[in-house]
Amino acid sequence: MELLQCTGLKKVYGRGDTAVCALDGLDLTVERGEFTAIVGASGSGKSTLLHILAGVDKPTAGKVLVDGVDVGALDPTRAALFRRRKVGLVYQFFNLIPTLTVEKNITLPLLLDKRRPDPEALDRLVAALGLQDKRKALPGQLSGGQQQRVAIARALCYRPALLLADEPTGNLDRKNSTEILDLLRLCHRELGQTILLVTHDETLAAQADRVVTLSDGRVVSDRKRG
Ligand code: ADP
Ligand code: MG
Repeated sequence: MELLQCTGLKKVYGRGDTAVCALDGLDLTVERGEFTAIVGASGSGKSTLLHILAGVDKPTAGKVLVDGVDVGALDPTRAALFRRRKVGLVYQFFNLIPTLTVEKNITLPLLLDKRRPDPEALDRLVAALGLQDKRKALPGQLSGGQQQRVAIARALCYRPALLLADEPTGNLDRKNSTEILDLLRLCHRELGQTILLVTHDETLAAQADRVVTLSDGRVVSDRKRG
């Protein structure tokens, strides 16, 4: 079964003369375990799509199913829980809490649910992301690349059905960008993590299994690698 299914997805911001149609009848299906890159010019609707998939924002029309959940139909409370437990979100800016240690930042989604992290699972995650030596550090003591790794670990701590990354390397240099991409590929390969990666970097996009191009809120090209 598909993990993700968008049908006729439409998003209009505002109304009247100033209305902007960010998504214009977008159809997209993603299988479980796929690593898909979403590319397209600035303003083509990439971030809007991710926000709708994550339940951050509601579609104006159309339907989105993520892991069997009709995301557009969730009430605000359920949408918040869905966001925390079912999807992982990574942004260009790391959005870490400066006063919390790396370890606390990573497990924050669990702590918000008053759940105790499983120590072994946490050890594995921290090791997979190469953060063993930084567990007690504060975000301000880390490089940009390390901070992004913490943000990815936080996004993965609930083992979400879907990892959504919006320009995660947009604020990093080439070396750190490559490193982050290698990590995403590792998560995909080793954990079978389904990933949607928004990037404007063709070199990075080319490393995904599939590249979907958006233009004016629609899919204009969809290519699989290999
Ligand atoms: P991308 O991430 O591909 O650059 P976005 O999804 O951010 O594209 O934006 C798609 C279109 O929707 C753009 O024209 C943008 O200006 C508009 N848009 C995005 N967010 C909002 C908003 N909150 N209010 C009004 N217009 C918006
Ligand atoms: Mg964007």
